[in-house]
Amino acid sequence: MRVPPSRLVLLGHPVAHSRSPRFQNAALRHHEIPVTYEAVDVAPERLERVLHRLRAEGAGGNVTIPHKERMRELCDRVTPVAARTGAVNAFWLDDGALVGDNTDVPGFLESVESLLGGPPQAAIALIGAGGAARAVIAAAEAWSVPVRVYNRGRGRAERLATEFAAVASVARGIEDAVRDASLIVNATPIGLHDDAHPVAADLIPARAAVLDLVYRTGETAWVRAARARGHRAGDGLGMLVAQGARAFERWFGITADRNVMRRALDEP
Ligand code: NAP
Repeated sequence: MRVPPSRLVLLGHPVAHSRSPRFQNAALRHHEIPVTYEAVDVAPERLERVLHRLRAEGAGGNVTIPHKERMRELCDRVTPVAARTGAVNAFWLDDGALVGDNTDVPGFLESVESLLGGPPQAAIALIGAGGAARAVIAAAEAWSVPVRVYNRGRGRAERLATEFAAVASVARGIEDAVRDASLIVNATPIGLHDDAHPVAADLIPARAAVLDLVYRTGETAWVRAARARGHRAGDGLGMLVAQGARAFERWFGITADRNVMRRALDEP
């Protein structure tokens, strides 16, 4: 039987910058659940030992960079979507078994559908080929929408193409990737620390929407520039809240109040 976690942790390295404790603790207070969510910095070589202790405590939680792939191996059981992406970002105990899930995929689905009012109708141009890109492609599989990938390191994008049939092509340049796309997704850290744009605003096709997985206070420069040109545009906060809400639902079996979570992030 699944028992709600006695403690919630976010395991990452580094992890102090994470906004997850802020919105998860707001939701825990709102739903009157007497548990706190805390970020714990765990170096890769300590992950297994830390998990051993957390199991004994009946803890659950999230994992983030750089632990998502290793966590998939350390779980006793994973959901089909975690198996498909090869990455776990949420875990809990079920009858003593460590169960892993990937809530980035439904989190991405939810944030796109809220931006567009439904699934994308034509190709997705995806910039990046790392862990977040894998979640985007798994979501595109669910919608049966083709993906054109562009990554600065072409080999990594080509590996994705061999793993996922939804990857229709690996573009040689950004212009090729975005041509005729209905949605452009930035799954790189470009724009996280400065105002760099992953795709020049004048290359975005007239009817395309943009979704930046990066988030910053006041949105990213790319999102602001795209919106100023009349495109529908959103940053990564929507996905952050949605993946967190899905994890909350796995831990406690109740629907998390996304408005409470979102408001907690908007507070100064
Ligand atoms: P990752 O696995 O480390 O992959 C990073 C990707 O970005 C790789 O394709 C890498 O290319 C590319 N890249 C890195 N620096 C670059 C640069 N300066 N110029 C061009 N490409 C660059 O990271 P990830 O987990 O996929 O995360 C990617 C981004 O998504 C992060 O900024 C993260 O904050 C964001 N994210 C947001 C959410 C959310 O909920 N909103 C969830 C997950 C991730 P190479 O292969 O050539 O190195």
